[in-house]
Amino acid sequence: MKVVRRAAKRIFTKTKIPRASYVINQYVGCEHACVYCYAKFMCRWKSYGAWGSWVEAKVNAPTLIKGKYVRGRVYMSSVSDPYQPIERKLLLTRRVLANMHKGVRLSVLTKSDLILRDLDVLSEFKDVEVGLTVSGLDRKFEPYAATHEQRVAALKTLSENEMRVYAFISPIIPHFTDIEAVVRETKNFVDYYWLELLNLQACGTKCVRLLESVAPESLKILSNETLLKNYVRDDLKKILEKMNVAIRGIVVHPAASKRRWIVIRRDGVMRPISFV
Ligand code: SF4
Repeated sequence: MKVVRRAAKRIFTKTKIPRASYVINQYVGCEHACVYCYAKFMCRWKSYGAWGSWVEAKVNAPTLIKGKYVRGRVYMSSVSDPYQPIERKLLLTRRVLANMHKGVRLSVLTKSDLILRDLDVLSEFKDVEVGLTVSGLDRKFEPYAATHEQRVAALKTLSENEMRVYAFISPIIPHFTDIEAVVRETKNFVDYYWLELLNLQACGTKCVRLLESVAPESLKILSNETLLKNYVRDDLKKILEKMNVAIRGIVVHPAASKRRWIVIRRDGVMRPISFV
């Protein structure tokens, strides 16, 4: 793993991610190397090698963040996992959290149970939500992230420690991801869910090839806007109604057009909230 240490000029970056105003990436690049990772586009600007083989660490991030405050929710992180393995050694995420203004409205998302190490500092924030991505996918898709069981256990521990906890079921591969199983395992300690259908435009050739071999029918659905819409409006909606849990939003990425965001209201009626 190539680790590049560098100094950043700024710490908060404006974003269009739903329900967030800023992102913070103390790392760029990710050792978890998920096959479908949408952040691999960063390789266009960073010539360190294949996605998953390098991590850039913004070593001055803990200093840079001192005394800074932004309005609106801050999402950590968009082009890296804040709790990837290198964090055990560098403690960059921990030091950023320690120095961050505790009035910042923070949302942290990870695929690692290392987040439990920082329960003390996370609980100092006035408004914080913590999420674990739980896809139920195997090592072919997620070779180096924490196991599914570790992530579910982390959600439970976070909840037991009175954190506001959400599960991010992503990426959903139609008729392949066992959404019901994931919800059944987590619903007793998760406050709400976000869901996202796999983004075929951003997941890369290797991922598409993998889908061709393990889930060809799902790939057809993801590639066709009508089939995808039917899957969301019929199959997915039915599953979620049956599970009867709080859903904050479903992110859908039609293959041939712009990203679309959809929410499910309490009465189970889906409606688009915005088009970006
Ligand atoms: S954990 Fe997230 S950022 Fe890291 S490789 Fe996987 S999808 Fe990408």
